Formats: sequence, C-alpha cells, structure tokens
Amino acid sequence: TEACLSAAEAAAPLNAYIAMTAEQARAQAAAADARLKAGDAPAMCGIPLGIKDLFATRDVQTQAASRILEGFRPPYESSVTQNLWDAGAVMLGKLNMDEFAMGSSNETSVYGPAINPWRAQGSDAALTPGGSSGGSAAAVAADLCLAATGTDTGGSIRQPAAFTGTVGLKPTYGRCSRWGIVAFASSLDQAGPMTKSVRDAAIMLGAMAGHDPKDSTSADIPVPDFEAALTGDIRGKKIGIPKEYRVDGMPAEIEKLWSDGAAMLRDAGAEIVDISLPHTKYALPAYYVIAPAEASSNLARYDGVRYGHRAKIRQGEGIVQMYERSRAEGFGPEVQRRVMIGAYVLSAGYYDAYYKKAQKVRTLIKRDFENVYAEGIDAILTPATPSAAFGIGEMADADPIRMYLNDVFTVTVNLAGLPGISVPTGLDARGLPLGLQLIGRPWEEADLLNTAYALE
Ligand code: GLN
Repeated sequence: TEACLSAAEAAAPLNAYIAMTAEQARAQAAAADARLKAGDAPAMCGIPLGIKDLFATRDVQTQAASRILEGFRPPYESSVTQNLWDAGAVMLGKLNMDEFAMGSSNETSVYGPAINPWRAQGSDAALTPGGSSGGSAAAVAADLCLAATGTDTGGSIRQPAAFTGTVGLKPTYGRCSRWGIVAFASSLDQAGPMTKSVRDAAIMLGAMAGHDPKDSTSADIPVPDFEAALTGDIRGKKIGIPKEYRVDGMPAEIEKLWSDGAAMLRDAGAEIVDISLPHTKYALPAYYVIAPAEASSNLARYDGVRYGHRAKIRQGEGIVQMYERSRAEGFGPEVQRRVMIGAYVLSAGYYDAYYKKAQKVRTLIKRDFENVYAEGIDAILTPATPSAAFGIGEMADADPIRMYLNDVFTVTVNLAGLPGISVPTGLDARGLPLGLQLIGRPWEEADLLNTAYALE
C-alpha cells in the first residue's frame, strides 16, 4: 500500500488518479494485516486497488469525471466495491475516466486526459491509455496499484487494457452488480477487473461477482472458483475465428497478431475453426443508437436539484432555466451530444426508425453468437482494437465517428451480454502493446479465463 501510494504521487503527470484516499488505505491495510495475523486471509487481503470514478464510494468524491457531480460524496458504497472491501482489499484512490464513461481515450474527463505510461520508440509524444477506463489502465500499467476496477459498456475495459499491455475482463451481463455504479447505458454496463495477469483477473472477478438483490439484473448464479479453472489445458476446445472481423484496412501487424494468437492456441491443442457472425457490421451503428438512448434517459436525473452542480438563477428566471443552465454548464460536449442523439432516437417520430430498429439488430447480433455456440464453439478469438494506442488529441480533434470506430471489435460483446477478455499478446512496430480479445459463452468466465491463460 505504501509503495503504491508513493508511486502514485511520483506519477502525478499521468493523471491516472483524480483523488487519493491514503488515510482509508492505511486503515484498510492495517485491518488486512490483523486479519492475516489471525489466519483469516480472504482472497484480496491487503491488495491495494484503484477504483474507477464511476463507482460510488462512501464519503469519497464520486463524480463520474463530470462537472455535474461536483462535490458529490455518496452516503453509500457500490456493491462491487463493498464486495472487494469485504474480501480484504484496500482502496488507494479514485481513477480518471471519460465523463460518464463516454469515450475511448479518457479525453472527455473534466480532469483532463489520463496519460499512457507507454511511449512509442524514439518519441516523447503522449499517448492515450484508451477509455473510458483510461485511469484504471494507466494505473495498473504503471504499477500505481496492483489492480483496478473498470466498467465496460462498449469496450471500456478491453480497449484500455489492449492500449496499456494489461488484462481487462468484461464479465457476462448480470455477473457483477451494477448497484452504486453511475449508470451510462443500463442494459450494456458491466463492471470488471483490470489487472496485470489473467490469474489476477480470475481472483479479482471472484471477489467482485455475485448475486445482489439490490440490482434486479444481477443474476442469481453461483460464482465458481475462477482461479482453480486456470489449468492451461485447452486441448479439444473449439476456437472460432469470425471472418467479419477482418475489416477493410486492418493493419498487417494486427492481422499477424491475430494469426499468431490462433497458432498459439492450436499449438496448445485447441481446434481453430472459421466461423461467421453475419450481422457484425451493424453492431457499431446499433450500439451508437442504443447506448445514447439509455444514456439520455439515465442522465435526466442530473437537474441541478438533487446533487452536484447547480447554476445560479438570475433575476426573472425560474426552475426551467435553472435545469437548462445546470445541464449546459455541468455536461461536457460529448455527453451533450449523446443526450441529444438519445432524445432524438427515442422521440415519437423517430422511435421506430432508429431505436426499435437498433433493438432488432441487437437481437440478430445476439443470435449470431448463439448459433456458433450451439455448433460447439467454445470461444471466439478477435483483435481487441483496430490499432495500438493513438496520440492525445489525435482523434478527439477529428470527427467523433473516427473515435467511435475504435469500438468496432468490442461493442458486439456488450450487445450480446457475453463475457470478453483482452489479453496483451504482442507489440507493434513502434514497441506499443497490442491485445487480442477472447469472447466466451455466457456465464462461462472460468473457461474463458483458462483459454486466456493459455494465450497469455
Ligand atoms: N467507447 C464507447 C463509448 O464511448 C464505450 C464506452 C464504455 O464502454 N463505457 O460509448
């Protein structure tokens, strides 16, 4: 804990932590020491963690990296973080992220971007750690914590993991409670571990997961011993390679990473099978209708009345102006864009054309996966991202669609509610980390983690 606290202080320019909770960390670490001495050491005993700012932490600032939640200190703890503290973990502080988890580069944060600890060979240019869990990824990669929590609505755990050479797991929808996590798109959001290794991911997921009566979408399904599943034996497993993920203009180094990964799994005894997920090309447009629709509804609660930022009312103004100005001042441009898109696709005149259509596409995407799993496929191997980490400002200053294209390999998993993991498997020509994604069957994270373990 002390080593991480001082490393975090020394690494302030990375802007990974947006608040340290040193006092709480030392108290939790002392309690963990006492438990260890008493011979009662749970799975995460004394493990210092960073917590994404999307998780409500009791009496500790929780702003979802937004101005609209300025000064908000929740009087409650999220179920996932409570599970981690119950398992003996230690909270070092809150981690930077994109505002309301909307983004792929951590650049929409009110605190400014987190910085990737990696640099391209022969260059000093600052790179993004990805997003939205950019602070989590940067902190894990730079050894500013042993692991971190992340959330993944459309890739926000897996893409930052790929950009920083770390492991990121998005569990099956419903595996981890969403209670106390600031909602972005409720039917897609899922918390998961961001770690240095697959083994750490297995241990941490075991502590985070479990049924929670406070979240009606949390599944009442037993949590297996994920670590015990890590045998490395994947003989006879069928790994699917979906042809639709071979997108136009895919860099040769990503293609090579992908085929090398497949060869590695084949050498370990798995059978590599070409598969088709025909509706893949509609995933990104469907996601960028459904996620903003749910976001516009979830973010309606930020009105300047209940918590966070409230605009000053001028002479002659009423409550409506107060709502409007609080939201105009409190939400950044990307969040405002999403709220507007969401309100538009849900509006009476466009609901059928956009929102309802997107929901139908979502069903087709889910069926694509069900079909290949019914044919005996155990896991699917794809690249995690279309490129290595890009420069700060490089995409944010361009058309927002360019940023959205980053999520091309990750959003299908959220639309289908499946577990997915990003594993670092190589470096690009500039020496930057690249990751492969494995997609598993629902509720079979144990099996997925074991396949990832063989790939690591
Ligand atoms: N980059 C995606 C978005 O901006 C995913 C975000 C996420 O998973 N939270 O919506």
